[in-house]
Amino acid sequence: QETLWSAEDSLNELEALARTAGAEVVGKMLQHLRHPDPATYLGKGKVQELAALEQELGFELVIFDDELSPSQQRNLEKALNARVIDRTTLILDIFAQHARTREGRLQVELAQLEYRLPRLSGRGIELSQQAGGSLGAAGVGGAIGVRGPGETRLEIDRRRIRNRLAELRRELEEVREQRTLHRRQRAALTMPVVAVVGYTNAGKSTLFNALSQADVLVENKLFATLDPTTRRVVLPGNQEVLLTDTVGFIQRLPTRLVAAFRATLEEVVDADVLLEVVDVSHENAIEQSETVNEVLRELEAHEKPRVTALNKIDLLPDPDRVDPSLYPNAVVVSALRGWGLEALREKLAQVVAEQMVPLQVLVP
Ligand code: GDP
Repeated sequence: QETLWSAEDSLNELEALARTAGAEVVGKMLQHLRHPDPATYLGKGKVQELAALEQELGFELVIFDDELSPSQQRNLEKALNARVIDRTTLILDIFAQHARTREGRLQVELAQLEYRLPRLSGRGIELSQQAGGSLGAAGVGGAIGVRGPGETRLEIDRRRIRNRLAELRRELEEVREQRTLHRRQRAALTMPVVAVVGYTNAGKSTLFNALSQADVLVENKLFATLDPTTRRVVLPGNQEVLLTDTVGFIQRLPTRLVAAFRATLEEVVDADVLLEVVDVSHENAIEQSETVNEVLRELEAHEKPRVTALNKIDLLPDPDRVDPSLYPNAVVVSALRGWGLEALREKLAQVVAEQMVPLQVLVP
């Protein structure tokens, strides 16, 4: 999966993620090194270059596309006079901003603490709640390691985090039981479930809205939807389905985050049909779709019947160049302009109906 992506692609995605988190990106930098420097990740020259840039531009935050060790992070912050975070912290921060349901919030906090616990240094850390809006809630700053008391503080912090983790897991268990109950009730309705999946920013929320006229938050940002939202939709032929919107997939979503969001993705596992949204105007459309498939495979949901909405066709100068035969049951649409939605609804109805064929009993 990762080999499909160049470092530039990854950096571009990081930039989009940073924007989603509310940052204004003033520059990007790539360094080719055989091994990261153990002390500062970047080589000495690059650190100096960045420090000079900081003098010039006065940026407040540097985001690394890789995971940093706690000491690398600390050293870099000192050298650069700016806050330093890594990709995982950024993604967690975005999740925190967008978590809306109780389950979503519990999951995000759990993932944040699980990520932080082994990385705690003696500097003390606040048990930060999901500070909406703040980039990288990691306890940066604060008291810088006074050694003796620092160790005591570290022990306390670790214990507090472990206690909180246990509490969170218990609460999540409760919420999940509730969810199973809801699912059973819903299953009793025997309404087929269609889950909208796709790469982040592909247009899932927009399409979900267009198909269900639901009032779901739509943003020109990644991760506009974190918690699944479900609406009843009537398809042609009076076929009723439950349409459910899911969290966007991204490249290199750390596995530990996938695990933390399992309950969100359980909607996908339970679905009868998947509606994949692909942004065909994106230069990496194929790779993005591959990433989605990767995640679906992990969930053992990749063999479910699927309809593909080839979205944002309005942005293509030459829409005829799009080859629908590359994707299963593909329909070309513009969710924003409402193009192709009737054809999509027809296709969905057809695929759903195929799923619902009653078993024929052959009597010899
Ligand atoms: P999600 O992250 O997959 O839920 O994506 P959103 O539905 O939030 O859409 C991301 C951005 O793409 C928003 O700015 C939408 O307005 C835009 N968008 C969605 N569908 C279309 C489309 O068909 N055409 C164009 N031009 N933009 C679209």
